[in-house]
Amino acid sequence: MSETALTPIRPGHLAERLADQRNYFASGQTRPLAFRLGQLQALQQAIQRYEPRILAALKQDLGKPAFEAYAAEVGFVLDDIRFTIKHLPEWMAIEEVKTPLVHQPGSSHLIYEPYGLCLIMAPWNYPFQLLVAPLVGALAAGNCAVLKPSELAPATSALMAELIQKTFDPHYISLYEGALDVNQALLAERFDHIFFTGSTRVGKIVMQQAAEHLTPVVLELGGKSPCIVDRGVPLDVTARRIVWGKFMNAGQTCVAPDYVLVPPEMKVDLIQAMKQALKDFYGLEPKASPDYARIVNAAHFERLTALMPAEQVIVGGQTDATQRYIAPTILSPVSWEDPVMQDEIFGPLLPVLTYRSLQEAVEQIRQRPRPLALYLFSENPAHHELVMGGLSFGGGCINDTIVHLATPYLPFGGIGGSGMGAYHGRYSFETFSHRKAIMKRPLKLDLPLRYPPYNGWKEKVLRQVMK
Ligand code: NAD
Repeated sequence: MSETALTPIRPGHLAERLADQRNYFASGQTRPLAFRLGQLQALQQAIQRYEPRILAALKQDLGKPAFEAYAAEVGFVLDDIRFTIKHLPEWMAIEEVKTPLVHQPGSSHLIYEPYGLCLIMAPWNYPFQLLVAPLVGALAAGNCAVLKPSELAPATSALMAELIQKTFDPHYISLYEGALDVNQALLAERFDHIFFTGSTRVGKIVMQQAAEHLTPVVLELGGKSPCIVDRGVPLDVTARRIVWGKFMNAGQTCVAPDYVLVPPEMKVDLIQAMKQALKDFYGLEPKASPDYARIVNAAHFERLTALMPAEQVIVGGQTDATQRYIAPTILSPVSWEDPVMQDEIFGPLLPVLTYRSLQEAVEQIRQRPRPLALYLFSENPAHHELVMGGLSFGGGCINDTIVHLATPYLPFGGIGGSGMGAYHGRYSFETFSHRKAIMKRPLKLDLPLRYPPYNGWKEKVLRQVMK
């Protein structure tokens, strides 16, 4: 246990501590498989030990129900660690690849090499998972890491500082708590890789700062994720799956359906079905439900309540500033020009818009920044192809919401305004690794073909081999 990780940053001191971490990496001890597995197991055991306190911190920060906290945060990460421990030997193995005829005799292979010292910055909405899931990738790939949790989830931030400090050598993994000044101090330093999860606005700042040192970045950002409901789908299950994905964590989920697009003749029935689903999930008084979260802070509460004019509230709309409570709210009618359609909502407000033809819905989405997620409810394979093949977005689901990120077999990440790079499962390991390319040639045989002077026969042979 060390004091370094929790002591506040003093000018000059940070650079020293990061230099210590770089030296630790340079010593090579983070590279062997046994070391990586040992550290992943230490993390796994620490999380298991801290589980009740993690759930309590998430309750304190976000009013997060224990079920959601386990499913989307603690259990999610434990699953990822277990999967990583199981597969790491095969991921780390040197990968043999083919060698072209022109380079024979020879062999080629890839080495997955750790970057070095990685910075991981997390947001507040899944403050445990979004800090620790990237860490799993960083450890698996053999890196050292600096963690920066969000100051807007202070209970989780403080607890994670303790967990990290008690689990890891601070030269290996460190954690810095704090607000903007700490982020800025960290971003001014040179890292070998930066993994940032947060808003598009701050993502741009991170990328600008990283450019100073030509540091590679992964940006896991947000945006407006559409949910298209096609003609002919059963409305009860469609409504349940939309409402579940939207109102989990009170809508503060980066991949929550941001808005729904539905044919005009289905709108009333879909809203009715969603209203029923809300009643089934949270009862007539969601405020009293132990399964419904709260808004993270007063500023976000104010921002969200300004986006729900009374004349558009068709379901919900109740608020309580003292608890930062906003009822699950459905807004209709809504147009593309309304304030609620200008930015990611990131709260429990669900605008319902209409479209006449699917092509029209696709065009509307195409005109806007590329979403992090997109959901299509449809039983028509031609429509699956039109939407999934025709639109660009990070990832998504057909006939469900959110679940595409809860699997280690699919990469999770955005594109364009919703981010770059991806992780989960093997993709996390790859994201935190440099693929070093090696060609190996014997010294015994040295064909003269490539060496000057390039007389006629050499070019003839070259043209035969390379065409
Ligand atoms: P944010 O961008 O405000 O903050 C993220 C991190 O950046 C925090 O650690 C914060 O301390 C730091 N930060 C804030 N301002 C900064 C600045 N000027 N310079 C440097 N660092 C700064 O995001 P947030 O409000 O915590 O989270 C919400 C956003 O995150 C939403 O847009 C959401 O969609 C997105 N998000 C994306 C994912 C994903 O996986 N793609 C997951 C969760 C949240």
